[in-house]
Amino acid sequence: MSILILAEHKKGKLVKASLGAVKAGAFVAQKTNLPYNILLIGPGAKDAAQTVANVGAAKVFVADDPKTANYLDELWADIVLQVAGQTGASWVIGLSTTQGKAVLPRVAARLEAGMASDVIALTDNLNFVRPMYAGNLNAEVEIASPKKVFSIRGTAFEPIAAGAAATIENVAVSADPAGYRKTFVKMEETVSTRPPLTEAPVVVSGGRGLKEAANFKLVEELADLMGGAVGATRAVVDAGWIHNDYQVGQTGKVVAPNLYVAVGISGAIQHLAGMKDSKTIVAINKDEEAPIFSVADYGLVADLFAVVPELTQKIKAVKTK
Ligand SMILES: Cc1cc2nc3c(=O)[nH]c(=O)nc-3n(C[C@H](O)[C@H](O)[C@H](O)COP(=O)(O)OP(=O)(O)OC[C@H]3O[C@@H](n4cnc5c(N)ncnc54)[C@H](O)[C@@H]3O)c2cc1C
Repeated sequence: MSILILAEHKKGKLVKASLGAVKAGAFVAQKTNLPYNILLIGPGAKDAAQTVANVGAAKVFVADDPKTANYLDELWADIVLQVAGQTGASWVIGLSTTQGKAVLPRVAARLEAGMASDVIALTDNLNFVRPMYAGNLNAEVEIASPKKVFSIRGTAFEPIAAGAAATIENVAVSADPAGYRKTFVKMEETVSTRPPLTEAPVVVSGGRGLKEAANFKLVEELADLMGGAVGATRAVVDAGWIHNDYQVGQTGKVVAPNLYVAVGISGAIQHLAGMKDSKTIVAINKDEEAPIFSVADYGLVADLFAVVPELTQKIKAVKTK
C-alpha cells in the first residue's frame, strides 16, 4: 500500500500549493508508515518533476505522453487510477483547485473511496478538518472506507521542506482519449502578466462599489504597482464586469496573500470565506458599518473614487524616488 499525491503544474511550472499537498501526504505517511509517491501529468510534467524530486517521495511519476497534450478530466482521472493501481495506493491526495475538483471525485468514485474535499488540517488520528457553511464552522470528518481520497485547500498547508531524493519514472499512459464521450475542442486561456490569484503575495479586489466595469482600472493599476493579482466579488462577476477566473470567495478562489486590499466590497460572508485568512487586510468602503471592517486590519471609511487614485499616486511617488 502507498500514498499517491497528484501534484499540479502549469506548462512545467509547479503550482505552489502542490508542495502543501505533499506536506499533507508526508503527514499521512508518518502516521501510517506508508511511502508516498507524486504524480505529474501533461506537457511540461518532466520539468515540474524536478521541483518535487527532493521532497521525500519514493517515486515521482511523470505522465507527459503525447496523449496528454490536451487536458480532459476523464483522462487525468484514468491516469491517476492507472498509477494508483500500479503503486497499490490506498490514499490519493490532491488540490481543491478547479482541476482537483473535477478529477478527484472521479477517482474516488472509481476506487469506491470516501472523499473529503477542501481539507484545511489533519488530526493525529487522520480525520479531516474542513470548513462548512461558508467557513462559519470547521467540521471534523472521518472516512470509513479502506481507500481514502482528499483534496487540500492550498492556503492551509505549508510547503514541504526539502527531503530525500526520489526516483523519477515515466508512465506509459494506457487510457485512450479517443474512446471518451467528451472530446477536447479548444483552450481559451486568460493571458495575464500578473501573478496567479492564488499565489500572489498581494491581491487587490474590487466590488460593486466601483459602480461600473470601466472603473476596474483603478483596482488594476493599484495591483500592478504592487506586483499583485486582481480579484473580484461575485456581484461584479455576475454583472459581467470581469471574468469569473477572478472571483474570490466561497464559490470562487480561496486566497491568503500577505496583503489583501478590498475596494468597494461589502464583505458578505461568502466573500470573506475566500480571503479572511490573508495576513493583512485593508478595506476601503464608504459605509463604516460594512462587514468587511470586521476582518480588516486597516480600514479606510472613504469614497474609493477619491482615495484609490490618491493611494496610487502616493505609491507611484514612493517608487520613483
Ligand atoms: C451561494 C452563494 C455563493 C456566493 N459566493 C460568493 C463568492 O464566492 N464570492 C463573493 O464575493 N460573493 C459570493 N456571493 C455573493 C455575496 O453574497 C455578495 O452578494 C457579494 O459578495 C457582494 O459583492 P460586493 O461586495 O461587490 O457588493 P455589495 O454587497 O453591493 O457591496 C458594495 C460595497 O461598496 C461600497 N461602496 C459603494 N460605493 C462606494 C464608494 N464610492 N466608495 C467606497 N465604497 C463604496 C458599499 O458601501 C458596499 O459596502 C455568494 C452568494 C451566495 C448566495
